[in-house]
Parts: sequence; C-alpha cells; structure tokens
Amino acid sequence: MIKRVKTKKIFVGNVAVGGDAPISTQSMTFSKTSDVDATVAQIKRLHFAGCDIVRVAVPHMEDALALKAIKEQISLPLVADIHFNHKYALIASEVVDCIRINPGNIGSKERIKEVVDACSQRDIPIRIGVNSGSLEKEFLNKYGPTAKGMVASAEYNIKALEDFGFDNIKISLKASDVGRTVDAYRMLRPKNNYPFHLGVTEAGTLFHATVKSSIGLGALLLDGIGDTMRVSITGELEEEINVARAILKDSGALQEGLNIISCPTCGRIESDLVLAVEQIEKRTSHIKAPLNVSVMGCAVNAIGEAAHADVAIAFGKKSGLVMVKGEVVAKLKEDELVDRFVSEVEKMAENFE
Ligand code: SF4
Repeated sequence: MIKRVKTKKIFVGNVAVGGDAPISTQSMTFSKTSDVDATVAQIKRLHFAGCDIVRVAVPHMEDALALKAIKEQISLPLVADIHFNHKYALIASEVVDCIRINPGNIGSKERIKEVVDACSQRDIPIRIGVNSGSLEKEFLNKYGPTAKGMVASAEYNIKALEDFGFDNIKISLKASDVGRTVDAYRMLRPKNNYPFHLGVTEAGTLFHATVKSSIGLGALLLDGIGDTMRVSITGELEEEINVARAILKDSGALQEGLNIISCPTCGRIESDLVLAVEQIEKRTSHIKAPLNVSVMGCAVNAIGEAAHADVAIAFGKKSGLVMVKGEVVAKLKEDELVDRFVSEVEKMAENFE
C-alpha cells in the first residue's frame, strides 16, 4: 500500500489535486487551440478515454481568445499552457481553471503581480512547469541542465509567486530522461507541500514512453510522490490516458478494473492461452471493479495463482478449469472457457458494484 506524501489540496475546476484526492490524469491537445472545433473534439476524446484535466497550448493571441468558446463546450477542467506572454495569461485567467506559466519568464514584478491578482480573483491555481530544456540562464550556467538546476528553478519560481502571497500552486519538474526527472522530484519534495504534477517529458513513441514513464512515474508513486500526472506520448491522445491509468493501477495507486495475471507460456502449454488472454482483455475492459484474475497455462502454477484470484482459468490439454475464489466451478473444453470465465467475472463485478 502506497503511503502518499501529504500535500496541500488545490482545485483545478472541480478536480481536487493533492491532499487526499485521487491522483488525476492529464493530457494535452495537439490541435491549434484557435481551431475551436478541432480542440473541442480532441478534448471530448480525452474525456471519453478517462482523462481528468486537459491542457491546451496558448502560443498566440488567437489561441488565448479561443479559450472562452472552448470552455463553453467542454466539461473537463481546462489548463492554459503559456510561456512568457503575461497578456495571454490575463485573458486566459478569466476563463480557464488553471494556468501553466513560470513567473520567472513573465518579466517585471508588476506583470507577475497582475497575473497573480487575476488568478487570485477567480481562485484558480498556477502550475509552475520546470522543464530541463528551458531552464533560466542563471541556473543553467550554475548547475547545467541537471536535477539540481531544475530544483533551483522551481524554488525561484515558487518564491516569485509567494512574494505576492500566492500559494495556489502545483509544480512539475520534467526532464526527457528518467534519472533527472526522478531525482528532481525527490529533491524538491521535502522542501514544500505543494502538489506535484508528474511527468517524463518528450518521452517518445508509445513503447518507449510507456517504459520511461512506468519507471519514472512508477518510482515516484511508490515513494508516495505525485498528485496528478501526464504520460507524454508521441501518438494518439487516448494512449496517454490508457498508459497513465495502467501505471496508477499497477503501482497500487488506483484500485480499478481487472488485474490480469497470465503466464508467459512455455513448452508445457497445450492450449492457445495467448488468444484467450487477448479475448479476456477485450471483453472485460469495461469492468471497473478491482478484481484479481488469473489465466494460467498448466497445472504447475495455475492452482497456486487461482487460490488467490477472484476468478481463474487453469488450462490443460485442449480443456481447462474455471475457478472462483479457488474453487473449481466448471471443467470445460478449451473453446468454452473464455465465455464462462467472462460471465463469472461479470457476475462478481455486478455484486461488487
Ligand atoms: Fe509454462 Fe505452465 Fe508456467 Fe504457463 S503456468 S509458463 S504453461 S509452466
């Protein structure tokens, strides 16, 4: 069981981040934000996939001006991602649920105060988003693009907001490699209690991003660090959410859906277990109840695993057993096993809910 570091609870729209709130998942659209229809369509896809908070890039005035129309058509909390231009932040602050901006990049203290005042007025948080690729010169010169440099940048940006009495803050410390990312979050965690947004940035395509994010975010989650997260993938929007939720599930931070234990198969196998597991994954993907199920290829480990599983299949020679809570409920031919297994899982899930 993960023991989470206790952080300050803030709200991004109606989603609580930090404190005892569940760890939320985030993603980002890739349409031009000024293209309202395309952006709304992408946000709806993310919502359907299970995303909790969505972020859009605001690099131009037309993007800032499009935020209102976008916000009116969506129900997910909306974060505006802004670099440098405090005017865009002021426009966005009237509409969105959070702004990602580094105060150190805004310019004068007066400008920082304007943004802080605007966010305070609507009680919306600011995310300080430190990225190893865009550290302020002074930290880059002193520390290089290291975890130390990232932490120094975060502290500098936090202070820039705190100097104006603003503490509705969350923080991210992203690098494109796992080591620096994990080091930076671990280094900064004891220094304040603001909620952390986790992510390994520019993590690559689905396979590599999944591996990097699983190691990096997984390590931090097991340390109890992390209040919200984004898995950054060069790929389809839904993949980010699917991988993020899988990381949360497999690190024990999210009790939801089936935990499928299946053997890798070996020379003892006498049935098509790979096909059976594929079918089971597809047919049970809608189930939210946190059930443990096992699908094993032969008697060697099947009975041991089944004893701890809610529902199990133990394959034999072109046949197998279906077991519920360790008890055999059916002995069936190979092609009948998946149907019976799924119906037992659905029955148990219904009782669970
Ligand atoms: Fe091989 Fe049986 Fe173990 Fe599967 S459960 S890997 S078939 S020994």
